[in-house]
Amino acid sequence: MNKTDTQQIYEQLGISGEVRAYGQKTEERLKERFRRFDETAEYNQLKVLRAMQENRVSEGCFNYASGYGYNDLGRDTLEAVYASTFHTEDALVRPQITCGTHALSLALSANLRPGDELLSPAGKPYDTLEEVIGIRPSRGSLAEYGVSYRQVELSEEGRFDYPAIERALNKRTKLVTIQRSKGYQTRPSYSVEEIGELIAFIKERRPDVICMVDNCYGEFVDRIEPSDVGADMIVGSLIKNPGGGLAPVGGYIAGKRELVENCACRLTSPGLGKEVGASLGVMQSFYQGFFLAPVVVCGALKGAVFAANIYENLGFSVIPDGAEPRHDIIQAVTLNSPEGVIAFCKGIQAAAPVDSYVTPEPWAMPGYDSDVIMAAGAFVQGSSIELSADGPIKPPYAVYFQGGLTWIHAKFGILKSLQSLVDAGVISVDKIRRNL
Ligand SMILES: *Cc1c(COP(=O)(O)O)cnc(C)c1O
Repeated sequence: MNKTDTQQIYEQLGISGEVRAYGQKTEERLKERFRRFDETAEYNQLKVLRAMQENRVSEGCFNYASGYGYNDLGRDTLEAVYASTFHTEDALVRPQITCGTHALSLALSANLRPGDELLSPAGKPYDTLEEVIGIRPSRGSLAEYGVSYRQVELSEEGRFDYPAIERALNKRTKLVTIQRSKGYQTRPSYSVEEIGELIAFIKERRPDVICMVDNCYGEFVDRIEPSDVGADMIVGSLIKNPGGGLAPVGGYIAGKRELVENCACRLTSPGLGKEVGASLGVMQSFYQGFFLAPVVVCGALKGAVFAANIYENLGFSVIPDGAEPRHDIIQAVTLNSPEGVIAFCKGIQAAAPVDSYVTPEPWAMPGYDSDVIMAAGAFVQGSSIELSADGPIKPPYAVYFQGGLTWIHAKFGILKSLQSLVDAGVISVDKIRRNL
């Protein structure tokens, strides 16, 4: 064996011959699937490139702006690039938007007024929105400002309950919120087409209702976005898909001009709107991250499908399953025991480029009713487009896995998780051999 042998470097990084061979075999079987992900990435890469060329992105866009940030060319051009890419009238893309929850909270509070009602037609929204809306009483919630909330549960099969949605629409309904990704729930994630059907159903009955989509984890998974099928606003985080791993902070809202303007007036101030907000030197990373995002998302998708197949063939239950179409980058794997969840997360942590030497432990977390273990060794704190995993220590003992800035790293992380399960005695080497 010579010094540049791949098998040898895997071994040096703690992956046994059996685990690597099983990984190679799994990858081989996924070739055709991966080719289709590459084709989507090709389309989306060119879509972003065209938006950058059309809007004449220039070197001057990367200049540092401080103070009020009037006439910040980089900021204004980037917002035009997002709007062109997502086919919307306008966009707000700012480092002052601190995270995805903030972007969603902003889009809601900017476009709802006292007496209005917010409708979630597809069950419970993402956990952190419960406090934004006031489902769980919270300081500054929409409920405190006199905005009421109504929710329609999904049908038994996890589909939209159209008759119940029709009944829930009323004259106070002002805004409908739809979450593309399942997040950490067990329902399926929605395809952009399904979201389009739901929006069409609502608009037929109430053309004036604003349809907002929480697009977190969904950007660039498909060739179209919810804004291509009727969504009035799409909202997301830059430390997930569209930041491409390079944006160090931020969120975006893209949609109808008037709605985006309302968001700007809420983020900065009435009368100031989009005119202020210095970009403080982060613009190059926003542009470059957005440019890379289609390829980064493609790698994360390959990782998710690879993980699904690796664990499904060893007898574990995985959501989505190994063959299902993908609508986001999240993969759930049910490991059936606390030891399984802990070993998986330790493996992911040990695969990281940053903090690989630390050992994650289950811990009590605000907002969770059980201990949670989290694995993340990211360049950007909390970034979940980077390889990361977390799992609550409670039945059914599932871990949620996502990200990977490159396919090769995602693959390595998953092999490392499997090796960790083997080393902990949760999975036997014989079982892996039987699958070779
Ligand atoms: C991550 C996420 C959010 C919240 O984003 P944060 O940046 O964690 O605040 C909201 N909705 C969905 C579906 C998400 O995945």
